[in-house]
Amino acid sequence: MNRILIVEDNKTLAKLIAKKIEKALGYEVDIAYKLSEAKLFLKKYNYFITLLDINLPDAPNGEVVDYVLSKNQPVIVLSANIDKNFRKQMLQKNIIDYVNKSGVDDIKYIIQIIQRLEKNQKHKVLVVDDSMIFRKQMSGFLENLFYQVYSVAHGEEALGMLQTHPDITLVITDYNMPVMNGLELVREIRKERNKNDLCIIAISSNDDEEINALFLKQGANDYINKPFSKEEFSCRVNNSIEALENLHIITNHANRDFLTGLYNRRYFFDNMGEYLEEIELSGEQFAIGMIDIDFFKKVNDTYGHDTGDKVIVHLSEILRASTNRTDLVSRFGGEEFCLVLKNINKVSAVDIFERLRAEVESTIVYSDKKEAIKFTISIGVTLNSEDGLEESINQADMMLYNAKQNGRNQVVIN
Ligand code: GH3
Ligand code: MG
Ligand code: MG
Repeated sequence: MNRILIVEDNKTLAKLIAKKIEKALGYEVDIAYKLSEAKLFLKKYNYFITLLDINLPDAPNGEVVDYVLSKNQPVIVLSANIDKNFRKQMLQKNIIDYVNKSGVDDIKYIIQIIQRLEKNQKHKVLVVDDSMIFRKQMSGFLENLFYQVYSVAHGEEALGMLQTHPDITLVITDYNMPVMNGLELVREIRKERNKNDLCIIAISSNDDEEINALFLKQGANDYINKPFSKEEFSCRVNNSIEALENLHIITNHANRDFLTGLYNRRYFFDNMGEYLEEIELSGEQFAIGMIDIDFFKKVNDTYGHDTGDKVIVHLSEILRASTNRTDLVSRFGGEEFCLVLKNINKVSAVDIFERLRAEVESTIVYSDKKEAIKFTISIGVTLNSEDGLEESINQADMMLYNAKQNGRNQVVIN
């Protein structure tokens, strides 16, 4: 579990912040009221974040900041001091943020930063700049915000890096670079990756205003003018990443089924549309399996609707676990699922669907009252038809009907 250290001599405030953090984030929180107490904690633990008051009884001038930084622990400074120069001086140290502590909103802000840092750990950022000094500076800022950082010296290298690390979610690129400049790089990246899965921030020198507009037109999400402060850089980077995450949340809501998290019917047709275009030339074969739970009404009637839901979720987990990344699993509605096995022949398809049927037959779901429930599925399968997707689905539906007619708990393929 993540651990946080609060060093703050105002006991009421320290306890309030600790309580809020524990409640919102579920972290372990230690409180020290002086530097000497903080030192003892730091001997014992590593911290996800430390929140440091700069005016302590035994350290009145921010000494605690240097001490904690020397122990390589991440620092957020809490301060009642709004003096501009002091703030600037503090921000020059390797701290994450400088936060006022005058009200409840400030505590909310602290919690938001911590949540941001937690999520940042999962993001990979690529820095592209031919100047080693700038590369190092930006990488340092990003690491300070808990991002995973890669850096390269020019556009060609950047494109290579994006090939080998397709999970990079943010590219920060300089404009002036030899061979391929930043604008050309953005144009190249946007041929492959849209704004839904990668954001781009351009860095430009503000002697040419036109460049910023061009960057945005080519598909950059934002730009930062050189020279920039660590604070502006951090805010812009975090904003872009947050926007990307929000986009993912919205897309997920639109494409996925709420109960199981599987894709919904809508996504099924989008995805299959693209896939059919892709395989038009290769003539790749695929199998569509319509899957329906047998006598599901009885499960609901006997154990209740909630337990019925549990059975549906359990089946969705089996479907997910028994298919690979390219296969498409979706919930069409109620207790009916559709599984598309891509690039497959008839024999292998039958084999996979038959194994799936057998696995479901042998599985047990427990109701809330710990009753053991067994259930079976029927599957209608067809290989892709010349007559298009709708026809293939009809065929699979018909095979499912036959499976039900023949006594259920079986796979029928045409
Ligand atoms: P068959 O073997 O012929 O498929 O019989 P069945 O009882 O499974 O089929 P039927 O279509 O008669 O019943 C399906 C039931 O599934 C009816 C409906 O109330 C229930 N159902 C649909 N969606 C959900 C859901 O999201 N959760 C739960 N618990 N039940 C659902
Ligand atoms: Mg340059
Ligand atoms: Mg059914």
